[in-house]
Amino acid sequence: MKIASVINLLEKTLGAPKQKRDAPNPVDLLVATLLSQNTNDHNSHRAYANLKRIFPTWEDALGASTKKIASAIRVGGMAAQKSKRIKEILHTIRDRYGSIDLTSLRRMEISQAMEELQTLKGVGKKTAACVILFSFRKPIFPVDTHIHRILNRVGIVRTKTPEKTFDAMQSLVPPQKMYSLHTNLIRFGRMVCKAQNPLCGACVLYDLCEYQDKEKFALSREGKKGDSEKVHFMLLDNV
Ligand code: SF4
Repeated sequence: MKIASVINLLEKTLGAPKQKRDAPNPVDLLVATLLSQNTNDHNSHRAYANLKRIFPTWEDALGASTKKIASAIRVGGMAAQKSKRIKEILHTIRDRYGSIDLTSLRRMEISQAMEELQTLKGVGKKTAACVILFSFRKPIFPVDTHIHRILNRVGIVRTKTPEKTFDAMQSLVPPQKMYSLHTNLIRFGRMVCKAQNPLCGACVLYDLCEYQDKEKFALSREGKKGDSEKVHFMLLDNV
């Protein structure tokens, strides 16, 4: 099956990623994922680090004004909107669970935890699935815009939105390979199958890829192996 070949080829090229010994706290992960929206990894990481430095506990952040939170996360962009969202979420979690803690959701079935997390304002399928995969270490395959793009180019799915790709992929990826494929596709999308100018000429998936422009990009200067080694990024389970 094509998906098995993609998993194998990416593991051979990028390695089989291993999860850290300690799973990240689910609230930390949730906030880090929200901060990663519409910005690059470097800036979202700086925004998260600032937030944690200024507000060592989530109770501290909840007690602060949105203005102060916005000032702490300004480097990550859309600070006014994100600070409001973070406060709302912290508030809801404390009111609903008695403290700013989501560890009780770990005991739920995956589908139930997905539903519960998505009732938090601003939390969609991708963010909810990231919490379940990274913090609860349960088999689910989160899909962001980059993973959606790659899987459509390769021809694993033919879908219009990341949400539709998410739905299609849950039964296609073996549960024990969900973390590996998710992590390697994020890396692969930043190093090789970029949104603009993919490096098709240096791509291990070239032979099985169905992207109609792959030959054009393989021949172009941008399509040859370039600065992929210079890419640095933060994986979400490193929060
Ligand atoms: S051949 Fe090009 S479009 Fe296809 S997966 Fe590789 S980099 Fe992406």
